[in-house]
Amino acid sequence: MLVRELKRGRSLLVRLDHGADLVNQISELAVDESIHTGAFSVLGALIQAEIAFYDQESHEYSALLVEENAELVSCTGNVSIREGKPFVHAHVVLADSDGKTTGGHLLHGKIFAAELHLIELLGEPMVREIDQTTGLYLWSG
Ligand code: ZN
Repeated sequence: MLVRELKRGRSLLVRLDHGADLVNQISELAVDESIHTGAFSVLGALIQAEIAFYDQESHEYSALLVEENAELVSCTGNVSIREGKPFVHAHVVLADSDGKTTGGHLLHGKIFAAELHLIELLGEPMVREIDQTTGLYLWSG
């Protein structure tokens, strides 16, 4: 287990841009605001999305395109450093017009409307490095 105690920094409430990509917007914000480690939640609606499932045997993501408009019921994630830059890791639950949900690791999400709450965490930044056991870029220090 890797544990690090960080202090809460700024708390940003942000209306993200219609038509933009959710992951890119949060990444750009983290770079612009010099946020190296943080945690966030987002709610709103997406025009379309691409989510993924990580196959624990093959160590590969399989992508799923969600082409219908969707409620962004829940999106939680974090920001940490990967290859020297802030990296956004986000998971989503999306609902269709019948209220049926799907979810996964968020690759892309085209924003219809989205409200972000990003909490900056101050201290020694969390850094991701490739982990041989899982094949994932995990926090390593
Ligand atoms: Zn993930």
